[in-house]
Amino acid sequence: MMVGGGCAWLMQLLCVTSGLSAERPPNFVVIFADDLGYADLHCFGSPHQDTPNLDRMAAEGRRFTSFYVAQAVCSASRTALLTGCYPNRVGIHGALGPAATHGIHADEMTIAEVLKPRGYATAIYGKWHLGHHPEFLPTRHGFDDYLGLPYSNDMWPKHPTAKFPDLPLIDGERTVATNPDQSQLTTQYTERAVKFIEQHQSQPFFLYLPHTMPHVPLFVSDKHAGKSKNGLHGDVIAEIDWSVGQVLATLKRLNLDDNTLVIFTSDNGPWLSYGPHAGSAGPLREGKGTTWDGGVRVPCVMRWPGKIPANTVCNELAATIDVLPTLAKLSGSELPALKIDGLDVSPLLTGDATVKTPHADYWFYWGGELQAIRSGRWKLHFPHSYQHIDVPGAEGRPGKLSSPKTELALFDLETDIGEAHNVAAQNEEVVVRLTALAEMARADLGDTITKRVGTGVRAAGQLKK
Ligand code: MG
Repeated sequence: MMVGGGCAWLMQLLCVTSGLSAERPPNFVVIFADDLGYADLHCFGSPHQDTPNLDRMAAEGRRFTSFYVAQAVCSASRTALLTGCYPNRVGIHGALGPAATHGIHADEMTIAEVLKPRGYATAIYGKWHLGHHPEFLPTRHGFDDYLGLPYSNDMWPKHPTAKFPDLPLIDGERTVATNPDQSQLTTQYTERAVKFIEQHQSQPFFLYLPHTMPHVPLFVSDKHAGKSKNGLHGDVIAEIDWSVGQVLATLKRLNLDDNTLVIFTSDNGPWLSYGPHAGSAGPLREGKGTTWDGGVRVPCVMRWPGKIPANTVCNELAATIDVLPTLAKLSGSELPALKIDGLDVSPLLTGDATVKTPHADYWFYWGGELQAIRSGRWKLHFPHSYQHIDVPGAEGRPGKLSSPKTELALFDLETDIGEAHNVAAQNEEVVVRLTALAEMARADLGDTITKRVGTGVRAAGQLKK
């Protein structure tokens, strides 16, 4: 086994004395697209999008077809991925803008902090969105290296309908550009990711690559401009697919394939308001900003040659809150001391098709409002208003929205993936069972609709004055 320097030696000694395996733990690469819809990849059914590298990743790995995010909006979703918690638990909702004075609390542990004691090198290249003030930046939360935008790429002076200050590009903790040329971001993140893998090939590493794209405003480099069958949005997806290819080629070139788990997924569904600049949720209902499956169910591909059986599909429930405990299990790391919500789903990755999910149910909040629960094949929506697009926008502008209301409605997602047929009246016992689950959720995480205060809610970090 190759190890480098005194730190690695000390880490090995600590592992041996603490009873953990001294064998080198696996590398992890998590690639997180922004607003990529369930049906935006060829390997997830897109009829007009070529994604040869992601298709190959799926052919060499496993597609997860019932994979969920915790909330269909950027900051909340990213917080859930990185902490293994429902966003309500850690007090981060919605999408933090440049005026926000809060971020991830110092007491919460990110995946990077969980992996650090096992000797991992850690990096994030892309969109952070857990707070942009220095004390909330990735470098203060377990990441050795960072290049990226601290929040969404539309929070800049050129926003079509809102006013925002200059958008910083941050390297480490230093702003190295304002309003950067966004057509270069995917390339810059990718080049930095490849360099990070090369530099840390002899120690375990965790690379988090949360692309700024395909969140609006869409930008693509000359390499891919005008070449897809699906306009600018197609070009942008093609560039993300290229980036995946660069990462996979680097792992292969450095002989790291067999010791590296690569996960590709998205932070939420497509932002349908933006019409041709949004992606597609395919057969799923609605999109980003809702608790319908078009908002919260995302494409997910995992690849780990020799560990994940090639060309397989898992339709069991899994979610981004499960990534932290799963990577902790696979690396022999300790879980955070504070309560988390995710579970180890590693048997769904490495096992055969008969393995069942350890998750009985998932709770879907929008902000502090419990709107829906998924349990097995069933999804129960509680009465709530949601954002619906009446007229999609054109050329990078948002469309016209309305706020219809759903009543209590039960859907059987095995026979009705589009949540179109309310079967509550025919399945009263299921409604009763899922309503009881909702009471558990409200007792723990609260619910602003019913004005319940949850006992398990922790505060976000507040900017020190
Ligand atoms: Mg997003």
